[in-house]
Amino acid sequence: MALLEIIEAPDPRLKVVCETVETVDDDLRQFMDDMLETMYAAPGIGLSAPQVGDRRRVIVVDVSRDGETKRPLRMVNPEIVDTAGEPVMSEEGCLSFPEMFAEVERPSAVKIRYLDENSEPREIEADGLLATCIQHEIDHLDGVLFVDHIGTVRRNIILRKMKKVKRLKAREAA
Ligand SMILES: [Zn+2]
Repeated sequence: MALLEIIEAPDPRLKVVCETVETVDDDLRQFMDDMLETMYAAPGIGLSAPQVGDRRRVIVVDVSRDGETKRPLRMVNPEIVDTAGEPVMSEEGCLSFPEMFAEVERPSAVKIRYLDENSEPREIEADGLLATCIQHEIDHLDGVLFVDHIGTVRRNIILRKMKKVKRLKAREAA
């Protein structure tokens, strides 16, 4: 197991369109375990491959609360095949945007198809936080960030803050 470095915005590596995984092998299983470990350590409830500099269509998610049994999901080539319910607004954050939050509107319920860590095809229906989280992570695989769903004014405020934080960190490291 290894902790991976999480890329922070703005960064061109967060804008890539990821590639479909052809085979789920030990290397990929190890990578997904590392992603989960990185996500739990952050801490966060979802993480996508491009956030750790990888171009495979892979996400990990766990929306269980503190003290509950963990419910990790490892999703390979996840895709939304159906949506339902009224769109809902909910506050989202992102491990690539530390301490930044914004209200994002998305479908309240989704059906997702993916391969699990054993390459078994699966389909699940999700609503609430799980639906929001999975949609957010799948977006990452297409280079779409949560700030791309909000108004320009709010987006520019967040991006300006992120650039400033990056400059300060670069200066401290120099
Ligand atoms: Zn994110």
